[in-house]
Amino acid sequence: MTGHDSIASERTRSRPNESAAETGVVDGRPAAIETNDLRLTYADGTRAVDDVSLTIPKGEFFGFLGPNGAGKTTAIKVLATLLRPTSGDVRVNGFDVQREARSVRESIGYMAQETSVDTELTARENIRFACEAFGVPRGERSNRIEELLDLADLADVADKRAEGFSGGMKKRLDVATALVHRPPLVFLDEPTTGLDPKARNRLWDYFRRINDEGTTIFLTTQYLEEADQLCDRIAVILDGEIVATGSPAELKRRVGGEILDIELEDEDDRQRAVEVAREANIFDSDATIEGTDDGLNVTATSARSNGTDLLVALRDAGVTVTGFNVRAPTLDDVFLAITGEHIEETRSMDESVAAQRGGR
Ligand code: ATP
Repeated sequence: MTGHDSIASERTRSRPNESAAETGVVDGRPAAIETNDLRLTYADGTRAVDDVSLTIPKGEFFGFLGPNGAGKTTAIKVLATLLRPTSGDVRVNGFDVQREARSVRESIGYMAQETSVDTELTARENIRFACEAFGVPRGERSNRIEELLDLADLADVADKRAEGFSGGMKKRLDVATALVHRPPLVFLDEPTTGLDPKARNRLWDYFRRINDEGTTIFLTTQYLEEADQLCDRIAVILDGEIVATGSPAELKRRVGGEILDIELEDEDDRQRAVEVAREANIFDSDATIEGTDDGLNVTATSARSNGTDLLVALRDAGVTVTGFNVRAPTLDDVFLAITGEHIEETRSMDESVAAQRGGR
């Protein structure tokens, strides 16, 4: 079985965490979120979320990773009681999302993709307004507001109108307003889309701080790096179905070894190079050998130790190598292993920012 098969097969295997979903406990920790065969079909027949079963323990930083249109926002809206599931059981903080929607809402924070910041108001006023909306007792509001301004790194601009805030500042304020009632669980729907790396890093620090203080975080993202940096565990969703779950390290391990990238002088040699690599019998039988834009790559447990043998074989075959590199798999390799494609729709964050700037 190739590394690719071993990941891809999860789509047809039993649901992740099936047994945990039945017990509501994961590794001795109570579940913050449990879904059992959750399905959401829109009125036009689009099956946006398809039989998703997940159990997320309290305190976890959980990432829901997938390209545009994969079903992330739909799933988060069901969990936050904004959409009713078509079928399946869904419990959030122990409450049923259909029968106990109000209790669910009172026990969660939700940061939507669209900002909820009122730009006419100052940062402090925005948080105060959220305190009122969430029924934070009057006597506790001042302390809560100061605490959240600090946590969001907005104390210096507390009395400035949000109108002049950068995208990153507005997002930090958005998160602060979602936390006024001290929810034990927060949903963050693509919170860093379009932000520059500096703003993104500040938000990441902020999320880590909230999670360190015990808050469970359910984050959706289309950024591999974000999921890799922040999450204890990730579920990859594609066309409404979960196709892989695990910690970033586990998912990368399942790719099966290391990756040897080889760059060729002449792209016309690519096919020949792939044949040489396959026929030379250098790597274990579980190796994956593929042509790339500028050469080929080999995913194999013996990529490092046997890489030089391949270079010699290529030289003997008259193929000129201009560069090579052995590296650990990235989440992009995981995506490739699952889907057979790079996560092209899920452009890197920097490309995404550049594209947005270019489009303005
Ligand atoms: P993005 O990263 O673009 O936000 P996503 O992973 O959050 O994408 P969803 O917005 O949940 O994905 O969409 C999942 C699927 O459901 C897509 O095919 C989308 O076109 C479709 N969809 C979303 N909202 C509706 C709706 N109101 N009616 C019909 N189809 C919808």
